[in-house]
Amino acid sequence: MPNFENARSIILQNISLLGTEKVPLLESLGRVLSEDIIAPWDLPLCDNSAMDGFAVLTSDCSHTPIDLKVTGYIPAGGAITSSVEPGCAITIMTGAPVPPGCTAVVPVEETKQVNDTVTIKAKVNNRQHIRFRGEDIASGSRAVTAGTVIRPAEINMLASLGKTYIPVYQKARVAILSTGDELIELGETPTPGQIINSNALSLAAAVRQSGAEPVLLGIALDNMESHREKMIEGLKCDAMITSAGVSAGDRDFVRDVLVELDVNQLFWKIDIKPGGPTAFGMKDNRPVFSLPGNPVSTMVTFELFVRPALLKMMGHQKTIRSFVKGILQEAASKKAGKVNFIRVRIEKKDGRYLASSAGEQQTGILRTMVTADGLAMLPLEATLIPAGSEVDLLLMNNVDMMTE
Ligand code: AMP
Ligand code: MG
Repeated sequence: MPNFENARSIILQNISLLGTEKVPLLESLGRVLSEDIIAPWDLPLCDNSAMDGFAVLTSDCSHTPIDLKVTGYIPAGGAITSSVEPGCAITIMTGAPVPPGCTAVVPVEETKQVNDTVTIKAKVNNRQHIRFRGEDIASGSRAVTAGTVIRPAEINMLASLGKTYIPVYQKARVAILSTGDELIELGETPTPGQIINSNALSLAAAVRQSGAEPVLLGIALDNMESHREKMIEGLKCDAMITSAGVSAGDRDFVRDVLVELDVNQLFWKIDIKPGGPTAFGMKDNRPVFSLPGNPVSTMVTFELFVRPALLKMMGHQKTIRSFVKGILQEAASKKAGKVNFIRVRIEKKDGRYLASSAGEQQTGILRTMVTADGLAMLPLEATLIPAGSEVDLLLMNNVDMMTE
């Protein structure tokens, strides 16, 4: 039985990259760039003004104040009509190309204009307030590196370089299969003994949140044939997640059918709680995650094992959400022999994370998952963790954000 870190390493070692595709620029948001982007032109494309003001010759302004004759006007987007001659200045707007000869721009705030004479009042430094051609990105240089996760900043850069289609890793198509005779689909009304297939939706949401695409396979009934039929479909996707039916009960068929379908099982059971019965296997290069059915276990194991794998498939280099240190506000107890992940509310106070239990911790209590901001990891052999102990926290909510 692997421990939690080993289990995750086994999974990640087996994950290979998906293929690549080109998508319209805006669709590339959140995706991972699969090739370096080389600038096809200089940024900026020409020397231009960084201020609204006057294009001048530095040599005219060695002693200020000095009066210059205003001989032209260049708005942003405007064309250059003349060069700056000695003793003259040209009115120029931010972003407008600087005219030939211009060696400095004087901000309008440092001038006074009367008719066609402008008085330059402040000291003028050579090259001031000019954005020079290529100073941001030179043509032919690497503007964005392969492996970068595309954010609005990269979108701006790529747009500035005229890139309409962006090479990115494909989105993983992730099959989601729920198992159990007790399940009904959302929209139907459960009778006692039935439960709504909420895991499928929660997993689909988590898959989508990780940037992948869920493919809902529905419900496999508790028999081999039903599992087989659905799993054959699921194994056509880039990855498959099953929920429930992975324990040792005589109605748990997930592992048997996966074996029958040539899925190479790499582990079954991890020394964690919740999520102990998790299994993982590979069919060719497709990972198959068999998660336990309790909604809390399903969500926690997705967080710990599935998301990093999906991110890796889609080209992400940073796949594992790191733990932060926090202080447990009240004592916790557990059995030795398993790493426990308890659901906690987390507050940030004076720069420190303070964690307190989000409520009852039985795996059947979904409510506590809703009120939790994250998970606190309680070490394998610990049995009593006193209040005030430092613990590792996995943040699952924006606890760093503030209200107003
Ligand atoms: P099992 O591993 O099949 O014994 O399932 C464990 C428990 O998980 C069941 O008793 C159900 O309450 C719950 N469960 C299983 N599948 C789902 C599902 N798709 N959605 C919500 N809860 C589920
Ligand atoms: Mg079941």
